Order: sequence, then C-alpha cells, then structure tokens
Amino acid sequence: MVMLGRQGAGKGTQCVRLSRHYVVPHISTGDMLRAAVREGTELGLKAAELMAAGSLVPDDIMIGIVDDRLDCDDTTERGYILDGFPRTVDQAEALADITAARPLDVVVDLDVAKEVVLERLAGRRVCSDCAANYSLDKPPRYGWVCDNCGGDVVQREDDTPAAIEKRLSDYETKTAPLIAWYRERGLLEVVDGYGTADEVTARLLAAIDQRRR
Ligand code: ADP
Ligand code: ZN
Repeated sequence: MVMLGRQGAGKGTQCVRLSRHYVVPHISTGDMLRAAVREGTELGLKAAELMAAGSLVPDDIMIGIVDDRLDCDDTTERGYILDGFPRTVDQAEALADITAARPLDVVVDLDVAKEVVLERLAGRRVCSDCAANYSLDKPPRYGWVCDNCGGDVVQREDDTPAAIEKRLSDYETKTAPLIAWYRERGLLEVVDGYGTADEVTARLLAAIDQRRR
C-alpha cells in the first residue's frame, strides 16, 4: 500500500504501527534519504541541501531508489508500506510501471487540515539514531533521550519555519493532485487523521482490511 497525506499528519507513526500489524516492511523515502545523509553517501551529499531547504529531491533519483528497494525479497512475500513516495504525478506514473506485475492494493490519504499540521510540525521531535517520533506533547520518558534506543531526541533540521512553509506549498501543488489521480484509478481510501493515534490506527486498519487481496 501507499500512504499519502500532508507532512506532520502522523504518517510516520501510523506507518510503523501498520508495518508491525501486517508484518510488512515500512519503506520511508524520508528515512532512506536521512540515512544516506548520515552515512555521507553520494546520494546523501546531493540530498542534504535540498532536504534542509524543504525542497523535493529530483524525481529520477527518487524513482531509482524506490525501484531498487522494491526489488528486495522482503517486499515480494507479504507486501509493503510505502511512506513518502510518490510525491509527484511523475513518481506515481513510474511507480505504476515498477509495480505492473504486482499492482498496489490501496492508497491511503491520511487527511488532516493544514492548520492542524502546522502546529504538529512545530512540536515534532525525532530520535537522531532510530528515527522514532516524539513531540512536545509526547516527549520520551526521561529527558530528550529515546525510549527505544537511548539516542538523542531532537528537532529535525528541516522543521524550521521556512522549510515547513516550502514543504507544505510543494505538497499542495505537487502531491495533493495524487489524491484525484489515485481516486480515478479506484485505489484511494481517505482516512480521517484527527484524534488519538489509537483512533486513527483503528480507522486505517478498517479501511485497509477491506481492500487487502
Ligand atoms: P515529512 O516527514 O515532512 O513528510 P519525509 O520524511 O517524508 O518528510 O521527507 C523528508 C524530505 O526528504 C522531503 O522534504 C524531501 O526533501 C525528501 N523526500 C522524501 N521523499 C521524497 C520523494 N518521494 N520525492 C522527493 N523528495 C522526497
Ligand atoms: Zn531511538
């Protein structure tokens, strides 16, 4: 399946929960890029500046990364959750080609209004080692130290006001059109992203179960 939705809608947290529930890999292009930046790979060097400014990484690079990742055996057995890709119509078209032999079951749009995500993005904190999500409202148990791995919990470099603004405006012009694109192809489920994480998870499971092949 594919998870769409505005930045800060809780996609990451929900995708982790879904990947545990269905026992399938959670493939987050944002996490993959951040790992490449940490490791200082060629890709990481190219992506770092774009990401810090809140700009999208070029389509051809992103399509190559996802194509390689979906070739791995762990995705062919039970499926996968794709988080953060596609973000443009060109990426969606490439994904349709990549998955031609095993088409997507469902595309979920996790629906949260712009005013709400702005607030959530400003309060968002993340583990610099394992990428676990926290927030000012839901901090780790002890100081800003990750509950899972003991890593430092910090604000993401691209959660500055200017980068947030850029990401949300790119979302409206480039990513939001995918909602209609997938609806036309009969793949779209819209899930209300308001409420507690448990409430949202329950809605997601209901929407996905009814679509699973
Ligand atoms: P968010 O948590 O804000 O939704 P992600 O963690 O998914 O953002 O991605 C972080 C950054 O990585 C994006 O702002 C963008 O620069 C880059 N990125 C991730 N996925 C893609 C993609 N599919 N196409 C282009 N850029 C991407
Ligand atoms: Zn951690």
